[in-house]
Amino acid sequence: MTATWDARPGSREPAEARWPGLAAVLDAARAAAADEAADFPAGGLMELRASGLLGLLVPGEHGGLSGDLTDLAEVTMRLARENTSLAFIFAMHCQQVAAIVRYAQGPMREQVLPDIARGRIYLASATTETGTGSHLLTSRSVTEAVAGLLRIDRDAPVVTGGEHADGFLITVQAPRATSPHEVLLVYAHRSQLGLRTLGGWQPMGMGATRSVPMRLTGEVPMGQILPARGGFHEIVTALYGPVAHIGWSATWLGTSAGALSRVVRYLRSHGGRAHSDLSSELLLTRLAKVRARLDTVHAMLRHVLAASAYIDDPSRPPYQLLANGLKVIAAEQCFDAVHELMELAGLRLGYMRDSALGLERAFRDLRSATLNYGNDRLYLIDGSLTLLDQDVCLA
Ligand SMILES: Cc1cc2nc3c(=O)[nH]c(=O)nc-3n(C[C@H](O)[C@H](O)[C@H](O)COP(=O)(O)OP(=O)(O)OC[C@H]3O[C@@H](n4cnc5c(N)ncnc54)[C@H](O)[C@@H]3O)c2cc1C
Repeated sequence: MTATWDARPGSREPAEARWPGLAAVLDAARAAAADEAADFPAGGLMELRASGLLGLLVPGEHGGLSGDLTDLAEVTMRLARENTSLAFIFAMHCQQVAAIVRYAQGPMREQVLPDIARGRIYLASATTETGTGSHLLTSRSVTEAVAGLLRIDRDAPVVTGGEHADGFLITVQAPRATSPHEVLLVYAHRSQLGLRTLGGWQPMGMGATRSVPMRLTGEVPMGQILPARGGFHEIVTALYGPVAHIGWSATWLGTSAGALSRVVRYLRSHGGRAHSDLSSELLLTRLAKVRARLDTVHAMLRHVLAASAYIDDPSRPPYQLLANGLKVIAAEQCFDAVHELMELAGLRLGYMRDSALGLERAFRDLRSATLNYGNDRLYLIDGSLTLLDQDVCLA
């Protein structure tokens, strides 16, 4: 398996200059109001559709923007500086698009990719299951093959934007599977499914992702199963896992970079100078630690992006360890950075919900990072992978 996307350094141009539609997306999706109401940013999604950015990763021959994973990371980071939920929604959509670009064949490919590029298909993901949790490589959701169709009846406990999605990538057990490890990744258009929202979404943070529990039932042509020679395991190791880790890490890094930027701007403002001692060793040390955490995550993100392009066999431990390592480090360091900023800013500016610095919202949003595909699970996987790599070949 070879890489699909080219590696290149990040652009020095502001993201809004390269993707002019971005500013309108941010205007339409006001983070504070959407967070308060735990409301999906429908206006932001409408602008994303109009901007062409839903087709960022779709090749030009299908009408898309031919973006690469670096573009995905940069757009996501920019969105997350102001709106973590919207950035997460975008990154999750792009993860599904990447899977379709790499694996979809035949009529499905010809129909779905142009519709994504035109902004007509926003994709959601149903991989988490009640019972197996975030253990991606198993599914207890049985399916039947009926007259050339795959019959699906899937309980999905957490589906970001599911009520607004036009299409879904769903993990299910293969028909007549003899083990829960026989997993398929299937595309279904909204019109092919019966959709029921089974409950609400009242989390501590990430409220505007509206990641509700749903039941998805329906029948789809067998051609909508994403084929891979190595099965779903190959899809996860070669693409689905690493792209998720890149998108999530970019979301968390953008959130914490936005928080640090707002704090530094405040400290340098007239009011900030009047209230803070900018020569305080405590303040300078805290700022330095926060900045170092963000630069560490950023360096790792850039390295994973580069490695994703040159690695020959992404299923081997060095690359898997690197991509998984990005996720766990980003989840921990970005949250710790905002925690430290809250200590620095204090009760009034840091902890209060109505503070213009927005640290409290970033803190609540980032608290989900270690739980979102649990770091505990990834550490277990990485421990086993480390045992397989006795020469410690660093990717
Ligand atoms: C904002 C947000 C959006 C999301 N959006 C989506 C989405 O769109 N689609 C989707 O499919 N999923 C989504 N998820 C779910 C996510 O991908 C994970 O599946 C989910 O966060 C894991 O939830 P969990 O902690 O209940 O599951 P698990 O990771 O299964 O953990 C459950 C419990 O088991 C414990 N545990 C885990 N591993 C072990 C072990 N080996 N031994 C002992 N105990 C263990 C954990 O500590 C935890 O207490 C989203 C999550 C968040 C936070």
